[in-house]
Order: sequence, then structure tokens, then C-alpha cells
Amino acid sequence: MSIEQNLNNIKQALPKHITLVAVSKTKPVSDLMAAYHAGQRVFGENKIQEMAKKHEAMPKDIKWHMIGHVQSNKVKYMASFVSLIHGVDNLKLLQQINKQAKKHDRIIDCLFQIKIAEEDSKFGMLIAEASAIIQSVEFSELKNIKIVGVMGMATFTDAQKQIKKEFDFLKSSFDKLKPFELDNCKFETISMGMSGDYDIAIACGSTMIRVGSSIFGSRN
Ligand SMILES: *Cc1c(COP(=O)(O)O)cnc(C)c1O
Repeated sequence: MSIEQNLNNIKQALPKHITLVAVSKTKPVSDLMAAYHAGQRVFGENKIQEMAKKHEAMPKDIKWHMIGHVQSNKVKYMASFVSLIHGVDNLKLLQQINKQAKKHDRIIDCLFQIKIAEEDSKFGMLIAEASAIIQSVEFSELKNIKIVGVMGMATFTDAQKQIKKEFDFLKSSFDKLKPFELDNCKFETISMGMSGDYDIAIACGSTMIRVGSSIFGSRN
């Protein structure tokens, strides 16, 4: 099926309150443009320089989400345009994002990546670390970032029960962090669910899903 058909099929079945991030990593601009012409405006990439190139080449009404692990020294390449950074998992990175956002006189929205998977390879924080950051003096000084929610990636497994357990855990983390409301912190978004598990994620309270292969086909 075409990218347009895939996209329309997914969108048709999606509850209205769910934001669909089209994960276009490794795919050529022509594929992204096919999705764009089908109405898609939110794209997710996991490499900063690849995202910056695509941002250059494509219409300016697109919202670009950084969904991958972020290296501090590369934040500068996306600070002028990135719309949401999903994978924030430490204060130092947040301070760097704040510094680069300030240079462009803007506020960059971020999500705290919470570790929900069993695999050691997956990044993320404990809830205790996230709440400690929010309550720190250093955090209160960051005027050019805003924490708007949490993100998590489930274990790569076919065991639906385990995936559900991990998504339930992310939802409960969100509920625990939500009471912290500050000028630079308001929990509204739960980014969870990919091609293989977004139905479970939505049932568990996701508000934002990141879907790649079900739209653009499998990656090499
Ligand atoms: C690649 C990626 C996705 C999309 O994965 P699919 O299985 O292709 O839908 C979602 N989230 C993150 C963080 C990714 O790196």
C-alpha cells in the first residue's frame, strides 16, 4: 500500500486526542513529502543532522520532533526549529537545550524519557530522578525550556502482557509527576506506542504515538 493509504488507515482508527508522529528516520524526503501531501504535519527523526537537512528541504509548517537520544554538543543544530524533544534524560542536557533555545529567543518543549523497558540498552530516568530535577534550583532557572510530559519505549518483545505492564508504569509515572506545575513544567503529553504496540499504548493512556514502519514501510 502507498504511504498515503497507510497514513489514512492509521488516522481513521485513531481517537481524536491522539497526536500521530510520523517517524521518518532513514527515509528520503520524497517519502516524507508523500505523507505531507496526505496532510501529515508532525514528523519524528532520531538523528539531529538528518532532521536538520530534512527541515531545510521541506515546507516550514512542519513540526519536527527529535525522538532519539540527544548528544549535548548537537543541540545547536536543531535549536532554531525543533518543536519537541522526546528523549531528555538528564539535567545537563536540559541546561544545554535551554542555553541553545535562549540564543534563538524561544522556548523548546521537552519530554522526560522514563526507563520502562527491561533492556539495559534503552535510555531513560527513574521517576525519582525526574522529580528531583523538577524540584532543583537549577531547574527553576531554566526559562527557555518547558517540560510538557513523558516518553517511554517498551521492551522489544511479543509478550503483550509485559508491554502493557510497562505502558501502565509510564502512565502511573505521569500521574505522579503531574502535580508538579511550574512556569517551565506542565505535564500534558504521554508519548508511548510505536507501529507494533500503539493500540496497547492508547488503551493505557497514551496521547502521542510514534509510528514509522506502518506508514513508510520497513527500514533497512
Ligand atoms: C524508530 C522509532 C519509532 C518508530 O518505530 P516503528 O516500529 O517503525 O513504528 C518510535 N520511537 C522511537 C524512539 C524510534 O526510534
